[in-house]
Amino acid sequence: MKKTIEDLEDLSGKRVFVRVDFNVPLDEDGNIADTTRIEKSLPTIKYLLSQGARLVLCSHLGRPNGEKKSNLSLLPVAKELMNMLPLTKIKFSFQSVGEKVEQATHELKNGEILLLENIRFHKEEEKNDPLFAKKLAKLADVYVNDAFGAAHRKHASTAGIARLLPNAMGYLMGKEVNTILNVLENAKRPFVAVLGGAKVADKIYVVLNMLKRVDVMIIGGGMAYTFLAAKGYSVGGSLIEEDKIELARDILEEAERSNIPVILPVDHKCGTSFSGAVKEQIIHKPDIPEHLIGMDLGPKTIKIFKKYIRRAKTIIWNGPMGVFEFDNFSEGTEEIAKAVAKTKGVSIVGGGDSVASIRLLNLEEQITHISTGGGASIKLLEGELLPGIEVIENKNKFIPAKAPEKKKKENKKNN
Ligand code: AMP
Repeated sequence: MKKTIEDLEDLSGKRVFVRVDFNVPLDEDGNIADTTRIEKSLPTIKYLLSQGARLVLCSHLGRPNGEKKSNLSLLPVAKELMNMLPLTKIKFSFQSVGEKVEQATHELKNGEILLLENIRFHKEEEKNDPLFAKKLAKLADVYVNDAFGAAHRKHASTAGIARLLPNAMGYLMGKEVNTILNVLENAKRPFVAVLGGAKVADKIYVVLNMLKRVDVMIIGGGMAYTFLAAKGYSVGGSLIEEDKIELARDILEEAERSNIPVILPVDHKCGTSFSGAVKEQIIHKPDIPEHLIGMDLGPKTIKIFKKYIRRAKTIIWNGPMGVFEFDNFSEGTEEIAKAVAKTKGVSIVGGGDSVASIRLLNLEEQITHISTGGGASIKLLEGELLPGIEVIENKNKFIPAKAPEKKKKENKKNN
């Protein structure tokens, strides 16, 4: 078990570097389009403030690739944070490291916050540069990682710095990690995984790892066509990843040997081109004619998927079931979202698009855990140890038993 902030003692007066995930979506005018990520970090921030800590907050925003880009400044986030914490003094530092920033951290009073500028303005961040990590460590006495969304990245602010300071996970990180790992280890059965989305390469190893744990594997969305092709069905003009067909075939064979059903679409909603303007056509069989593209689940498939979901005691859903951005191909994703929300068992939803559809349908309250980190949750489901978690100290540090006193070396033979 990794340390959490509640395991940290005597925080009063300490400078605590908190790596948060303020990577918020921005609209065309550069305004924050969704404040969820900021809100999700508030429990950790509030707890640390209540303990009299002095907070140095650090995050990335977008992909500035090591360059200063004014449209990716965290200044708007500082303003939003001020609205959310009106009683807290919040300062913004246009720099992320250096003497001036160090000085500013020493000038903080208990219960105050200094938010650093976008850490990815420095190319050393993504390289996990040890000197840069050292400079970051100079800004604080304690390190807390609450950026689950960046936990799969081995960067200076998510991994390098942790080795240099006493550390712990924040509440958000702790909840994400514990919920997902707990479900993987102790899921109530039947345990059903529903995977969708477009990029097979991104999720095929999740399928592989999850096969060892689930009772039923459901595959929909664009991913499904590579698996259907692996089974010998024709998929028309649908999305497939040719170089993954072989692996998909191996996975299906492995599933068969292990007696784990892999449920694939048996009918489809198709269009003649990849557009929201085309008229949808139902194809009542797994094979798709040459001139059509599979863009959503067919009605029979929806029924079958829902039947398995209804029976699940534990369910993990990641990835849309069709091109849900087009209204006439959104039914599959919506129906699966509703079914997942309806299950009485434990439900975990991850991935931007699945989470967005749950939110759109106002079903958040009915989901046990909505994961904030797409890539990070995928890596956890793949069975990987995430760099941002690995570096956090264990709760019970290994204290070696007192070594038995060494016997005095016997004198060599009557020497
Ligand atoms: P991913 O990032 O891999 O989770 O993929 C999400 C994307 O998958 C969404 O933008 C969907 O539009 C897309 N998607 C889902 N089903 C299909 C499909 N049948 N054909 C093409 N794209 C799809």
